[in-house]
Amino acid sequence: MSLEFYNLKVIRLEDQVRNLAEQVGKLVDDGWQNSLCLDNIRKRLLDVERESEQLRKSLDETHSNNEMGRKDISALQIELEEERFNNNRVGEEIEVKMRKAAGLKARTQGSVLEKLHQELREYKGILKCGICDDRQKEVVIAKCYHLLCNPCVKRTLENRHRKCPVCSMSFGPNDIKSIYI
Ligand SMILES: [Zn+2]
Ligand SMILES: [Zn+2]
Repeated sequence: MSLEFYNLKVIRLEDQVRNLAEQVGKLVDDGWQNSLCLDNIRKRLLDVERESEQLRKSLDETHSNNEMGRKDISALQIELEEERFNNNRVGEEIEVKMRKAAGLKARTQGSVLEKLHQELREYKGILKCGICDDRQKEVVIAKCYHLLCNPCVKRTLENRHRKCPVCSMSFGPNDIKSIYI
């Protein structure tokens, strides 16, 4: 039952007690000797007083229950606050770890990428003509098996002494063979 209900009931009972007390007082003053009626009124007065007392007790209990409820709520609020604090701390820790992981990932990716670029440069170097260092290897000198691009080998062929520009081995026009990479 709610506090309002108890309060209303107590007020009503107190009114009744007052009314009955007034009636008793009046009857005594009037000198009315009907003791039976007076006894009835006294009994009712006692009943009402008892009921009032019980209501007061219930009211007190309700009050103390509310008090306990308030204490429980305070304890829960403190607990909730601690939980929030812990959650925030865990959240911060996760954020720091994620930042570290992201940094590590970036560095790892960076070094992997750098390594791949390096390999790419090396492979490109293998495919490029070693004389002009520009065009792709297109022919082989079938004497020393050095690989060159067409313009570089043509230039060498135009000379009187046809020598491989890499190892200086002499070769003839028939030694030039196309290759297909
Ligand atoms: Zn070349
Ligand atoms: Zn050669």
